[in-house]
Amino acid sequence: MTRIIDGKAIAAAVGDRVREDVAALAAAGLTPVLAVVVATDDPGATWYVRAIGAAARRLGIGCHVHDLGPAASAAAITGLLAELSSDGRVHGIICQTPLPPAVPPGLAAQQIAPIKDVDGANPQSLGMLAAGMPGAFPTATAAAVAEILDHEGAVLEGRRAVVVGRSTVVGKPTALLLLARNATVTICHSRTEDLAGVCREADILVEAAGRPKLIGAAHVRPGALVIDVGISSVGGTTGGVAGDVDTGTVTGIAAAVTPVPGGVGPVTTMQLMRHTADAARDLAG
Ligand code: NAD
Repeated sequence: MTRIIDGKAIAAAVGDRVREDVAALAAAGLTPVLAVVVATDDPGATWYVRAIGAAARRLGIGCHVHDLGPAASAAAITGLLAELSSDGRVHGIICQTPLPPAVPPGLAAQQIAPIKDVDGANPQSLGMLAAGMPGAFPTATAAAVAEILDHEGAVLEGRRAVVVGRSTVVGKPTALLLLARNATVTICHSRTEDLAGVCREADILVEAAGRPKLIGAAHVRPGALVIDVGISSVGGTTGGVAGDVDTGTVTGIAAAVTPVPGGVGPVTTMQLMRHTADAARDLAG
């Protein structure tokens, strides 16, 4: 029988730990503050920023949204990120995507000081992660995948892990976290030959291609743990989202699978909160 992993319950458990950390910081006179820089009116981004604000409020974390509007210039965005990086009252910074088309995303993220880069957006953070150096945050999504595996008690040492997707937001940092836990890691992407054959080697299969129903029965080894990071809008005007995994077809094959929605997403938001509390503690210490 395939178990459906309850991401909301895992997120709640992470939230409880963060609340305790925030209370301890408050007792020492410190309230963690997350700054969110927004330069888009994309509905998905707007929804996510609202969810971040609500989670922060529930946990006692300050959340300041700086909305520069969708026509913001590169100079306005990078200037604000640099200012926040040197502002002692701010502990975590994220720059919400998408950015206006004229703004290279790497350029903006490079203005976020790594110690405050709670969503691992600065290429320097990814480099530090790759080098195994302390002091850098992985992206919240990669951290959420690792948290779910830890929560599931997954043994990674020596096991085969396959990550589908090679983006700097999900695929690469997730692969690095699995590697750090001593898994044997393969990264697949849009040019991979025999995707199903490679995926079938996985004890742990992480899907982050953003292609609904890309993964079905032919891709899953019996007993595999499947983490579905993909979120694609489906259903047109009726709304709805779908993951990369055709869950019905892997039921009875996978040991466990995360649902979409209600899997990786809620854990990601909580990891962002955890990183903000950690950054506040690091900056104070
Ligand atoms: P991206 O478009 O930057 O990268 C997608 C990756 O998938 C690429 O590396 C590409 O090579 C690979 N890919 C595309 N089609 C493929 C195919 N047919 N076979 C094999 N590989 C293929 O996207 P991203 O930012 O990495 O996000 C991936 C998915 O994860 C999206 O659906 C996104 O919405 C979702 N996401 C979820 C969260 C969360 O918290 N749950 C956070 C970030 C992104």
